[in-house]
Amino acid sequence: MSQTILIIGGGIAGLCAAVTLQHIGMKVKVYERSPEPAAVGAGIIIAPNALQALEPYGISSEIIRQGCPSGGFQLLSDRGRPISKLAVPPEYGSLYSLHRKDLHHILLSALPPGTVEWGKSLVQLEQKDTHVQAVFHDGSQAEGDLVVAADGIHSSIRKQLVPKDTYRYAGYTCWRGIVPGDGLPGLSDHFIETWGTKGRFGIVPLPGNQVYWYGLINARQNDPRVAKYTSEDLHHLFKDYHDPIPDLLLRTAPHDIIHRDIVDITPMERFYSDRVVVIGDAAHAITPNMGQGACQAIEDARTLAECLHVQPNYQQAFADYDARRRQRIEHISNQSWRIGQMAQSQSILFTRIRNQLMRYAPKSVGRSQARSIYQFRL
Ligand SMILES: Cc1cc2nc3c(=O)[nH]c(=O)nc-3n(C[C@H](O)[C@H](O)[C@H](O)COP(=O)(O)OP(=O)(O)OC[C@H]3O[C@@H](n4cnc5c(N)ncnc54)[C@H](O)[C@@H]3O)c2cc1C
Repeated sequence: MSQTILIIGGGIAGLCAAVTLQHIGMKVKVYERSPEPAAVGAGIIIAPNALQALEPYGISSEIIRQGCPSGGFQLLSDRGRPISKLAVPPEYGSLYSLHRKDLHHILLSALPPGTVEWGKSLVQLEQKDTHVQAVFHDGSQAEGDLVVAADGIHSSIRKQLVPKDTYRYAGYTCWRGIVPGDGLPGLSDHFIETWGTKGRFGIVPLPGNQVYWYGLINARQNDPRVAKYTSEDLHHLFKDYHDPIPDLLLRTAPHDIIHRDIVDITPMERFYSDRVVVIGDAAHAITPNMGQGACQAIEDARTLAECLHVQPNYQQAFADYDARRRQRIEHISNQSWRIGQMAQSQSILFTRIRNQLMRYAPKSVGRSQARSIYQFRL
């Protein structure tokens, strides 16, 4: 029998869950606190595993049509010397970069009009014997059989289920920006990430001849001085890095940058509680070092729908979902954390040894790691 599902949060996880659950015949409503579609953020990279998960819905083909493809990441030293190539095995296709707002538009276009109720901020969720009841800030209410909590890293639903704080500050802070790419030298068919002792810098071409960049430096959490940095301050920090890094920062208007401390969430011990299941960043926010946070949220959405489709008992379906997702999420979350620690080292000796080891590491190791990440399995 078709169930009524309330999805709280209209980010990538919530919108994907709406698509996958509607596809199996569920009645779905998304409640999003923003008054209108407004994906904050700069660019985003969607990896082959997420494209495989979205295949049945016509979304992957749209991402491929609109995105900028890349065969992987070229890792460089601050002087621009190659360290390693993190290549996508060709049989899996490519990474695709696009503007976050375009990804949201693609996901929204895959839903019937009226699926998302904008301007609805959940303030209370009550699980009853036979249903769930959601109360919103404007006093309105909604009832459903089940709830999908997709309300992001600061999820109030997760805090209700697991009051203990599970945030973990990674020790570094991040800025992102988008600039016109006209005349920029040195953009290849691989996205670029540069590791130096002063920080890390990423360069990712976007459609429409734009370039998405990100910079990460080690800093104290919530440092008010660092939070005020402009692109000029970042230019000062990265001015000795290889081209076109200084140029990208000079092209960025001083305040046209997005800043965020990097934190993750230890994956919840159980991704569900009775009629509520938690997905995406709400359940397991991952550091961005592998570009897998949104991709794993997409895998969550596809797997959840599959479990509910084959298992009519929702409690068993949620348990199956947890069992299918747990190992992969924990593995990627831990690996991403370790990459961040290694990439952010400020020790000259350590970075020399690291770079040498990476230069001469057998290619088969990288290929088998890439296969395990870029292969989605239901
Ligand atoms: C610097 C950086 C770069 C990244 N790059 C990549 C990348 O290239 N590739 C990748 O795969 N991942 C990347 N990620 C991770 C990715 O951004 C996240 O994993 C992804 O956006 C999570 O989506 P979500 O829907 O779970 O959460 P969110 O995007 O946070 O969405 C949650 C939604 O819930 C809404 N909400 C919250 N509370 C309520 C409430 N009470 N009521 C109603 N609505 C509510 C919010 O308004 C929001 O729209 C990156 C992350 C960072 C920090």
